[in-house]
Amino acid sequence: MIYIGNHVSSSKGFEAMGKQELDLGGDTFAFFTRNPRGGKAKDIDPEDVKRLIALMESHKFGPLVAHAPYTMNVCAAKEDIRKFSVDMLRDDLERMEYLPGNYYNFHPGSHVGQGADRGIELVAEALNSVLRPDMNTIVLLETMSGKGSEVGRSFEELRAVIDRVNVPEKLGVCFDTCHTWDAGRDIENDLDGVLAEFDRIIGLDRLYAVHFNDSMNDRGSHKDRHNKIGEGHIGADTLRNVVRHPLLQGKPFILETPNDDEGYKKEIAMIREWMI
Ligand code: FE
Ligand code: FE
Ligand code: ZN
Repeated sequence: MIYIGNHVSSSKGFEAMGKQELDLGGDTFAFFTRNPRGGKAKDIDPEDVKRLIALMESHKFGPLVAHAPYTMNVCAAKEDIRKFSVDMLRDDLERMEYLPGNYYNFHPGSHVGQGADRGIELVAEALNSVLRPDMNTIVLLETMSGKGSEVGRSFEELRAVIDRVNVPEKLGVCFDTCHTWDAGRDIENDLDGVLAEFDRIIGLDRLYAVHFNDSMNDRGSHKDRHNKIGEGHIGADTLRNVVRHPLLQGKPFILETPNDDEGYKKEIAMIREWMI
């Protein structure tokens, strides 16, 4: 089995997110650590977090996959944006300590004309200023579609970041099916091969979570437009194989599909039927 859930709105607090996910039939979820467009994070109510932890234990939830705001770009060309982003990253990871044992996913960022090598260096530098051996969160780099100047378009680029990090045991990868497809990996005809490549280049022990999305575009399009499960170019057959792949069992799968709550309920139920 896998854990399945969606990206829930975090405006109502922690316990409310857990309850919302239960209503949808899920047993994991993602949430933005603050407004996805950036800005100041709300103060954490430790009692509210404790109630979520209790709910997760009694309903056997898998690990949560928090998502950094989209405005975070730790490899930006402009120093003030970089500093703002690293401060946000540090603050988010401090807040994640209220929820020990879960994951925090972020987009490595866009190097905006500096070149991928410089981008990789800056991402590693940012991570080296926030990762601590005693922290209780695994930080995940997301596999990206390669839109614009995104860093993380290939497994090799993610590996290059990992190689430069001082506390690699706190760093993992989140495999986004839409992004990996858009980046050109053939999960349709050769899922085994793609995972073998992941293992060879990054190591499957670093694959902690899956962002589970169909794509509006062809393989290799570098577009990053998510579609509902089974309604895009990846398709239901391939996505079912992903759910059932032996190497992906036990991981949290997060839907980031264009749905309302009814749509998520249906997708979660469908994926439960696919599970082995
Ligand atoms: Fe993402
Ligand atoms: Fe994603
Ligand atoms: Zn995306």
